Amino acid sequence: MSERLVTMLDQETIAARVKELGAQISRDYQGQNVVLVVVLKGSFLFAADLCRAIDMHNLRIDFLGVRSYGEGTETSGVVQITQDLSRPIAGEDVIIVEDIVDTGLTIAHLMDLFRTRNPRSVKVCALLHKPARARVSVDVDYLGFTIEDKFVVGYGLDFAEKYRNLPYIGIVTRD
Ligand code: 5GP
Repeated sequence: MSERLVTMLDQETIAARVKELGAQISRDYQGQNVVLVVVLKGSFLFAADLCRAIDMHNLRIDFLGVRSYGEGTETSGVVQITQDLSRPIAGEDVIIVEDIVDTGLTIAHLMDLFRTRNPRSVKVCALLHKPARARVSVDVDYLGFTIEDKFVVGYGLDFAEKYRNLPYIGIVTRD
C-alpha cells in the first residue's frame, strides 16, 4: 500500500492566517503577562510561527507534553501529561497553543488542569478545528481554520511520527 498526500492548506494560506492570529492576540493582550503554552509535539511549528507574529515583549513560552494518538488515528479519550510546565502560571494570562481540536478531550482536560493553578485567565489558540468530531464542547478563542473530518498531517502534525516536517497541511490517502 502506498501513501499519497493531497494538500488541504498550503504554506501561504497558513502563514497569512497565523499572522492574523498573532495580530489579534497582540491587540487583545497589550500590557499583560502572557504565557504561550505549546502543547507538544504537534504544535511546535504553529507556535514557532505564531509567537513571531505576536508583537509583545512580556511574552513567555513554555511547553507541555501530552500523550495523544499512538500509531493509529483514534483518540483513547485518556489524556496523559508526559512533560509538565517549567514554571507556575499563577496570576498569568495563559494561551494554550494547540495544533488541532478534534474530540475536544485534550483541551477540556488541560483547561481543567490549568484552572487549578490559579492563572489570571486561560484561553485557547488552535490552528485547526474539526467540529464534526466534537465529544465535548470547547471554546476555541483564536482559531486558524475549521476543517472537515479528515485525518491531516504536516506543519507539525504526524501520522505515526511521520510528516511533521511538511510545510503545508495535507491529507494522507492510501492506494
Ligand atoms: P482531541 O483530544 O481534541 O481529540 O485531539 C487532540 C489531539 O489529537 C491533537 O492535538 C492531535 O495531536 C491529535 N489529532 C487529532 N486530529 C488529528 C488529525 O487529523 N491529524 C493528526 N496528525 N493528529 C490529530
